Amino acid sequence: MNYTPTEEHLIEAMERMEIVDAHEHLPPESSRTNAEVDVLTLFSHYTRTDLITAGMKPEEYDRMFDQSIALSERWKLFRPHLENIRYGSYARPAFIAAKEFYGYDDINDDTYEAISGRMAAANTPGIYDRVIREKCNIKVCLTQAGRTDFDRNYLIPLMPLDIYGSVSSAEEVTKKADDLQMQVSHLDDYLELANRGVNKWKSEGAVGLKMSTRPSTSPDQKAAEEQFSKLLSGEKADMRTINNFLMHKMLDIAAELDMVVAVHTGMWGDFRTLDPKFMISIVPQHPETRFDIYHLGMPWVRETAVIGKNFPNVWLNFCWCHIISPKMTCSVLDEVIDLVPMNKILGFGGDYSKPVEKIYGHLVMAREDIATVLGGRIDRGLMNMDEAVCIAQKWLVDNPRELYKLDM
Ligand SMILES: [Zn+2]
Repeated sequence: MNYTPTEEHLIEAMERMEIVDAHEHLPPESSRTNAEVDVLTLFSHYTRTDLITAGMKPEEYDRMFDQSIALSERWKLFRPHLENIRYGSYARPAFIAAKEFYGYDDINDDTYEAISGRMAAANTPGIYDRVIREKCNIKVCLTQAGRTDFDRNYLIPLMPLDIYGSVSSAEEVTKKADDLQMQVSHLDDYLELANRGVNKWKSEGAVGLKMSTRPSTSPDQKAAEEQFSKLLSGEKADMRTINNFLMHKMLDIAAELDMVVAVHTGMWGDFRTLDPKFMISIVPQHPETRFDIYHLGMPWVRETAVIGKNFPNVWLNFCWCHIISPKMTCSVLDEVIDLVPMNKILGFGGDYSKPVEKIYGHLVMAREDIATVLGGRIDRGLMNMDEAVCIAQKWLVDNPRELYKLDM
């Protein structure tokens, strides 16, 4: 991509920043180095959506990663779809990785085997350090992999709110109670269990809980107690009443333990069920809870920007956005400068798991978006270069560090 001199200057300034990656799904490094990888690994994760939409069968997608099948066979499955997805922003980090880590300008019939060989050779202990620290200049990644056993030099965990914020059966409640050596015979006991569980995560380094946006009502403790007793005694219980109450309680526990609540909004599947506007009825009921709203609710970016404007306990996190749509991201990034105070924006999160080297391409795209927006403001005389660099520093370093109270 070609840059203007202003954009180039901004990108170089951002490359010198040691940033916080505000959202990943990275597992511990051994999960990656113990797995076999090849060029098709670069098309795992989000590119799945584009491949399936392009016409690939889900079972073909699964076969793409079946290492018992020869790479040439799997490449044949993938090859016809590549031309249809290669210009999309989900695919670009794969091409950037092929070039920057493995030395090939394109991924095609002539290069796929050689890239695969280099990937396998590079898949050794230290790969996280080489990608995350050396290449990306990331100080630390906030990660969600449903576990806390990380090298916290690189990875700081968030844990799923619904592990304690949602129940489905009496057996499940008993299992959770057994895990923490407790007994649950009343809703109060369960709340004590949830409290202990989240305290344990916090003691293991977790800095936040993750939920999805959802419709909700005000919590009704008496009704929840009644339904919870029914559940425990094996009667049919109204699970919505119980789980709505538990979600609200978890938001209070997060505040008491000084943990952030990250919220998925928008994008997946029937995204009407993930409307960021559902949070408008939740956020003001928990003024002491800090909410980190992910993905700008894409495609409801404007609605989400206004949520960020109106509620002091909301932050807006641009994780995943830059690869979903750079255009939509630049448009809302420019609008949030007008709408939202600069300390409330988190500029980048790669949102990857296995293909760690795609974080770099995503970060390149994020820097481009930020440079496009701030550069445009400089060129129109609305700010100077020093101010723009200071804003980028807030978005990429200071704001995530301060919101999550990271010790760095
Ligand atoms: Zn994610």
